[in-house]
Amino acid sequence: MELFRLTIAEAAGLISKNELAPLALTESVIGRIGALDSRVGAYITVTKDIAMEQAGRLSAGSRGNNPLYGIPMAVKDNMCVKGVRTTCASKILENFIPPYESTVTNKLQEAGYCLTGKTNLDEFAMGSSTENSGFFTTKNPWDISRAPGGSSGGSAAAVAADMCIAAIGSDTGGSIRQPASFCGVVGLKPTYGLVSRFGLVAFASSLDQIGPITKTVEDAAIVLNAIAGGDNRDSTSVHDAIPDYTASLSGDLNSLNLHGLKVGIPEEYFIDGMDREVEAAVRAAIEEMKRLGAEVVSIKLPHTAYAVAAYYIIATSEASSNLARYDGVKYGMRAAGSDLIGTYMETRAKGFGQEVKRRIMLGTYALSSGYYDAYYKKAQQVRTLIKRDFDEVFKYVDVIATPTSPTTAFKIGEKADDPLQMYLSDIFTISVNLAGAPAISIPCGFDSGGLPVGFQLIGRHFGEATILKAAHAYERAAGWYKRRPSI
Ligand code: GLN
Repeated sequence: MELFRLTIAEAAGLISKNELAPLALTESVIGRIGALDSRVGAYITVTKDIAMEQAGRLSAGSRGNNPLYGIPMAVKDNMCVKGVRTTCASKILENFIPPYESTVTNKLQEAGYCLTGKTNLDEFAMGSSTENSGFFTTKNPWDISRAPGGSSGGSAAAVAADMCIAAIGSDTGGSIRQPASFCGVVGLKPTYGLVSRFGLVAFASSLDQIGPITKTVEDAAIVLNAIAGGDNRDSTSVHDAIPDYTASLSGDLNSLNLHGLKVGIPEEYFIDGMDREVEAAVRAAIEEMKRLGAEVVSIKLPHTAYAVAAYYIIATSEASSNLARYDGVKYGMRAAGSDLIGTYMETRAKGFGQEVKRRIMLGTYALSSGYYDAYYKKAQQVRTLIKRDFDEVFKYVDVIATPTSPTTAFKIGEKADDPLQMYLSDIFTISVNLAGAPAISIPCGFDSGGLPVGFQLIGRHFGEATILKAAHAYERAAGWYKRRPSI
C-alpha cells in the first residue's frame, strides 16, 4: 500500500488498531515529497527532521482518541512555527525565524501531528495563483503547466499530490477555497472568529481566517475539531463551546441524505463569461443534492456585484497598515540606507514584490485624509449591505450553493500581467469573507481537459456542522474525491 495516499480518517483507523506506525507513515510522505516536489514546488521549506523526530516520539499507548496523532501535515508559510523559518513567500522575511508558535500549530502539535513543512503562497497571501510568491511558482499536480490557484496554492498542491495527508491554509478572499477547487481537493474557510489567528502573519485582519485543506470532507471536520476554539491571544476569536464536527457525518452510505435541507442558488453567481463546463458541473452537483432529498430554491444576493470592489479597498487598506511593521528594524531583512528613513525605504523597496507594493499604495491612498470617506468608509458600508444580503437569505435557506471559481485552473502566466483579471478569480469567494460566514469548496467533476471543478457551499455564521454534513453527503454520493492526479 502507498501510505501517502491515505486520508486522515483511514490513517487514524490503522494507527488506532496498531496496524500502522506513525514513523512509517511520515517516512512514506517524506519520500513522496522527495520524489515529486522538484516538479510541483509545493514546499518552501521541508521539515523532514522535525517530522521524523515528532513521529519517532509517538507511541501507540498515548494516542488516546486522537485522530491527528501521527498524521503528517503541511502548514502554509504565513503561520509561525517556533524555530522554523516563516517567510510568507517574501524576500523581506526570507530569513525570519519566529520565536513563538501560532495557536493553530500549537494545537496541532498537542494533537500529535508531524510537520512535513511550510508551503508556498502568493507573497503575504496576496494573489490567486502563487505566481506572486517571492521565490517560485507552484505547479498544479493535475497539469504542471497550470497554476494551483492561490494564495494557499502550495498547501492545495501538496494535498492533491499526496505530499502530505492534510494541510492548513488561510483565506482572506478565497485563498483556501479557490486553490482547493483548482487542485480537486476540499477546502474549508471557517466563520470569522472560530479559529484563532494568533501567529498568522496578518494580511487583512478583519477578513483573514485559517482553515483545513484535505482529501475529504470528513478530514476537514477532523482538522476543524482540532483547531477551532477561543483564544485569549486573539481578541476576535469566539469563546463558545465547539461541537464535534465529525458527529453529524454519517459513515453509512445508505443513510446519507439531504432531506430537510434547503439550498439557495443565487442568480448573481451564474454570470456571463463563466466557463460553460464549470457551470454544467455545478448545476449537475445541485441536481445530485436534489436527488439526495434537498429542496432547492432560487435566491437573490443583490449586492454581489460590488463585492470585489469593496474587498480590494478594505483588504488593501488593512494590508497597508499591517505591513507598515516591515521596516528593516524589527523583523527580517534590512537593506541599509544612508539614514533611518533611507533604511526604511531601501528595505521596503528591495524586500517587497510588485503586487505587495501595489496593494500598499492602493491601501495607503484609500485611507488618506480626503479620500477615506469616499473609499474606505464607503467600502465598509457596502460590506454591511453584503452581510445583510446573507442574513436575509439565511432566514429561509440552510446553505447557499455556488461555483467556487468561474474557471478551472488557468495556465501559469496567463493572468500574471493583468491584476484585474487575477482579482476576478475570487469573484465567488470574496463576499463570504466580507460577511464573515463559513464556506467549503468540494470537487464536483472535471472539465474536458481533465481539470477539477469545485463547488462552494456557504453556511450561516457558525454553521460549519451544516455545510460539512451537506458536503459530506454530496461527496460520498458523487464520488469525485476518489479520482487523483496521475503525477
Ligand atoms: N486572491 C485574493 C487576493 O488576492 C484573496 C487572497 C486570500 O484569500 N489571501 O487578495
